[in-house]
This record gives sequence, structure tokens and C-alpha cells, in this order.
Amino acid sequence: MSYAAAIRERRLPGARRGDGFGALLETLESYLPEEELPGIVDAYEYSAGVHEGQQRHSGDPYITHPIAVARILAELHLDAGSIKAALLHDVVEDTEGTVPEIREQFGEDVAVLVDGVSKLDKLRFDSAREAQAESFRKMLLAMARDLRVILVKLADRTHNMRTIEALSPEKQRRIAKETLEIYAPIANRLGIYSLKSELETLGFSTYQPFRYRVLKNALDKAGGKQRRVLAKLQSQLTKLLAKQGIEARVTGREKHIYSIYQKMQRKHVHLSEIADVFGIRVIVEDIELCYRVLGIVHQLYKPMPGRFRDYIAIPRVNGYQSLHTTVFGTTGVPLEVQIRTDEMDEVAERGIAANWQYKAVDKRTSTTEKRARAWLSGLMELQHAANSEEFLETVRVDLFPDKVYVFTPKGEILRLPRGATPVDFAYAVHTDVGNRCVAAKIDRRLVPLKTTLNNGEMVEIITARSARPQPSWVGYVVTAKARNAIRAYLRKLEKDEARALGKLLLSQALRPYSLNLRRLRKARIKPVLEELGIDDLDTLYVEVGLGRRIAPIVAGMLAQDAGGDDMEVAARRQPLDVAGTEGLVVDYARCCYPIPGDDIIGFMSSGRGIVIHGESCRTLAGYRKQPSKWIPVSWTSRPKREFLSEIHVRTQDRVGLLAEIAARISAADCNIDAVRVDTEADGAVQVFRLRVRDRKHLAEVLRNIRTVPGVEGVTRQAG
Ligand code: MN
Repeated sequence: MSYAAAIRERRLPGARRGDGFGALLETLESYLPEEELPGIVDAYEYSAGVHEGQQRHSGDPYITHPIAVARILAELHLDAGSIKAALLHDVVEDTEGTVPEIREQFGEDVAVLVDGVSKLDKLRFDSAREAQAESFRKMLLAMARDLRVILVKLADRTHNMRTIEALSPEKQRRIAKETLEIYAPIANRLGIYSLKSELETLGFSTYQPFRYRVLKNALDKAGGKQRRVLAKLQSQLTKLLAKQGIEARVTGREKHIYSIYQKMQRKHVHLSEIADVFGIRVIVEDIELCYRVLGIVHQLYKPMPGRFRDYIAIPRVNGYQSLHTTVFGTTGVPLEVQIRTDEMDEVAERGIAANWQYKAVDKRTSTTEKRARAWLSGLMELQHAANSEEFLETVRVDLFPDKVYVFTPKGEILRLPRGATPVDFAYAVHTDVGNRCVAAKIDRRLVPLKTTLNNGEMVEIITARSARPQPSWVGYVVTAKARNAIRAYLRKLEKDEARALGKLLLSQALRPYSLNLRRLRKARIKPVLEELGIDDLDTLYVEVGLGRRIAPIVAGMLAQDAGGDDMEVAARRQPLDVAGTEGLVVDYARCCYPIPGDDIIGFMSSGRGIVIHGESCRTLAGYRKQPSKWIPVSWTSRPKREFLSEIHVRTQDRVGLLAEIAARISAADCNIDAVRVDTEADGAVQVFRLRVRDRKHLAEVLRNIRTVPGVEGVTRQAG
């Protein structure tokens, strides 16, 4: 007795005998090794257990559906993982079963597949717009990291279409439309002809039952004569090939009804004008024979000019290979003849599914990725002569999805590069939306703007009229459009700010000479601009503001004065007031973190504008040699923002201490920007970066921290 029969006898409860699992096992036994079968039986028993008591709309026990789906895949000879995933594919959606439970019982491979199918089940396509269908198909492919997910989904849809009569008419129409627009084209793209044609026929007869019946009747009527011609041609050709010593299988074939319908629609023609409704397929052993058979066919019957296609030399994108020619048969009726090898025929019927077929040799060593790569490199070889752009696009979407597909609130689909954020999304919608975005929602939940988007998510952007692009966005956007728009905005902003600052610095530097920019004569300015190689006064302001030109030196030139001792000039200058709100051309040093109340000094840093340091900052020592780059600065009476400050808290190494200190910091109405803990032999040093208003605020924070038991000392980091 075979193993499968033994399992059936011993282990299957009588009540479940009629569910089709026995037939599935028989098919599996014909191509899978025996040791794979117990795992599949386990998956079946688990699934039957959790679906127990559930029914389909038809009234059948629910378990008959996953079994039927598995049978469709077994007919394509798919591997054990795919079969288990098919048996378990509705467990997560419809029962108490979970992905972690499936992972524990059936392993990572099966869990990933079931999870993938469950995620696809949540997406529903109901946009009426043609262009959206292609995006939706790509989204499905991109979401299914492993193409077996798509294969299970296609089989699922095929069985649902076979049993669609149990549903309400509206549901039937919606599902049939989705099948025709989304799933049949995917089966076609993946080259799985058997599923594609079944999905199309079922979809067509459900979605457009009247047109289907009319066309079917017409085909039946016209077909009688054609079929007789076909049979005659078939036997003629078989005999002739045998006489030449060529072993070949010659079969008649009919174009599928939906393909005929599509062609009639596309070309606006009548049924009688379609030449390739009937045809002949010749299958031989190798490629050389294909071309020999072609020669014989053309000798025997007159070929129709312009109808020969060599898909062997130039395969289709989905890997399909064959020779196609249309000839005038004995009665002058055109007939399409397809010539291919056994292997090509296999690919034509099963397409990509052929790559996940169980093969004894590579079973142990081959991972999914390896198999995918093998498929890819095979296709690459085949495709060298084909339309490479289209091919690469297909492969990219199929195997290495580097795009994410997300929905707008209106249900439109946007395609963005992997890693894209809501800011990228906002700029993809419109530059104005990007420039004004302040917050984002993903699937109706508020998220940070730098969140990475995932396939299938619905993204909503919240804008405010007063909002402006933030410099930090450049750090996480991935699209060129967003990056360029933000940079362009910041450049303009920086230029405006630099111009204003430069003007201010220059007029201050002119004061010791008792000069005033407004009253400076053109005759005095022009030679200076010429000497500096600068076109106009505005550009000079920008250069000074950005620190590329030194204000006292330019002032000296304008005053037609050698400039004297730089130090002396610097000493005579009025301090520049800073408030922290100057924007991009005034920056605060990260070595000493100056805050309002500190004595400060400005340093003109070339290209960056002014960087404010604490006066005692050690970093400044290196700059002493360039006194002309110093700017005296002082705080305005009321700075309006918070400033970063770094403090070091020396503590005992005690559990929970960090949380206590953080709580005391918050109690002083102070936000923590970052925290780092350095553990040392006799305790720990906790380094906090805080946002404080001024020295008084910081002092309050430090006082609070000192009251925490276990804190041994607090110091401020200042350069
Ligand atoms: Mn299902």
C-alpha cells in the first residue's frame, strides 16, 4: 500500500473523507517524495481543526476550499511549502489561528507565505480608472516578496471564481471585474496560461454574461466547418512529418473566448475577421527541429505575409518561447501554427510556476531566493535580444521590489521608491503640498514625518498655510523631487537671510570709519566690487553674510583705508544682537552649547555664516590667529527659542536612576533631546542633551537633578 493510502486509512477521521483531501494526496504522491507528505497532512489537520464548523456560502464545509486551492497548485506541481500555505491560507483571516502559531508548527517559510496571502486579502480594487489597474497589479506583486504568495492567491481566486454562483449578484460582478482587471493579467504576466485562461473565461461569463453567450453561440456555429478543416490539416501534417522521420505531437487548438473578445474590442473587428481563432500546435524535441518543421509547413501551405513571429530567438517578457506563423490551409482559411519544444510548452502552460515546482535534485540546497535568481538569470539569457527596458521593469517589480505603492485618501495609487516617507509622498502629490506639510497620517493614525511608508498604506498629509520646509527633511527624503524642492527653498531662504546679515555686518563694520552704507557713493563702491570680482552690492552682502568675505576687511576697502590693526578695528565694533531666531546663517556651536546668559562670541565660518561660541570655549583657541573673523555678539534681552545644552550627571550605578533623573528634568519643564550612559568602574556618567531657555532655566534643572538620591555630581559641558 502506498504511503498516501496508508495515511488515508489510518489517520483521516471518517467525517472528513468527502472533503477532497484524498484526491489531493494522490496528486501530491505522484510528484512529491514520501517524506514531504506527513507535514502536509499536519497542515491539513490543523486547518480542518480551526475551520471546524465554518461553512462556505454554498453550504459546503469550509475546509473544502483550502483543499481545492491546494489541488490547483498541486496540478502545477508546486513544492510542499506552497501546498501547506494553500491549506492554511485563510486561517489567519477567518479563524483563531495566528501567524506566530503557524511559524511554530510549520516553520518560517510557510508562515511568511500565509502572512503574505493574508495581507493581499485586505486589499480591494474598486477604482473605475484604467490606469489604476496597472498600479494595483504592481502593488500586489511588490507586496508579495515571494512569488509563491501570488501563486497561492491566484489559485484562491480561481477556486472562488469556480464557486462564485453562491454569492449575491453585486458581489459576483465586483469579484469578476477584479478578476479580469487584476488577477488574470497577473497570471498572464507570470506566464501561467492555464490559470489565466480559466480566470478569464469565468470572469467574462460572470461579468458580461450576455456578451459571453452571444459570442459563444457564434463561435459554436462558425466552428463546425473550421474544426473539420483543422482535423484534416492535423492528419496531413502528422503524416508528412512522420515521412521525414520527425517525431512530433500535432494538436489542434482554439483561441480562448475572452482573448477573442478582447481582440475584437481592441481592433474593432468582427469575429469572422479574426484569423487565429483556430490553430495547430506542433511540439518537437529540440530547437533545431522547430525550424525544420517551420520550413516543411511553409513548403506545404502558403504563409500569410507579415505574420511570422520568432519568439524562440526573441522570447516574450514572461519567458514564453515558440514559433508562430499563419498559413492558408487547404481551403484558403487562415490558420495559426505554433511550433515549440516540450520544455517551451511547459513554460507556456505554467510560466513562473515552473520555477517553484518540486525538483528532486535541488530540493535540499535551493532556497526561494536562489530559485528566484536562477529564474532571473535564465530569463536574462533568454531576453538578451528583447526589449530590455520593459523586461527590467518586469523583473524589478516581480522579484526585487524597490518601489512602494500607497493610496491617497481618494483611493489613487502613488508609486514611490522604497524607503519613501510622508514628505516624499507630499511632494509627489504637489510641490505646494510638500512645502506646506506639517504632519501625516498613515491608515488614519498620526505618525512622524520621517516614518517609512509600506505597501498598501493610506497616506494623508496635513498642511498649514504658514508652514515651511524644514532643513532636517533633507536627511530622510528619498525622492529627487522632494530633495530638490527642499534644497531650492532653503537656498533661497539662506540667501535672503545671508543678504540681511551681510548688510548688517557691513554697516556695523563701517561705523568706526563714520561711514554709512546708504550714503556711500557709487564711485567708491564700484572699484571695490571690481577688485573682489563681485557683480553687485547684493551679492557682496550675501558673501559677507555667509562668511566668505570678512566684513571689517571689506569695510576697510570701502573706506579706502588699509584697515589698520585688525584687533583694534574689532574692538571698536558694536556687538551684534542674536536671539536664536536668525535662521540658517547664525548657528550655535556643538562644542560648548552656548545659551542665553553666557558670554558669547561669533566666528565667521566660511560658507556657514556666523557660529556662536561661549567665550571660554576651548575650540576657539585655534581661531585666535584670525581675529578679523571674530564678531562681537550679545544676546537680545528676550531670546524666543530653546537652546541645546549638554550636562554630565555622575551617579552610582543603580537601577531606575535614569528614569528618576529624566522625571526631575521634565518636572523643570525641560525637554530631553538625547541621552547616553557611559558606565565606569565606580558608577556611571549619564550625558543628557537638553533644550533650555537660558542659564536660569538650566540652573533650575541642575538643582532638581541634584536632589535625586544616588546623584554624585552634575556638571555642564561647555567646550
Ligand atoms: Mn481563500
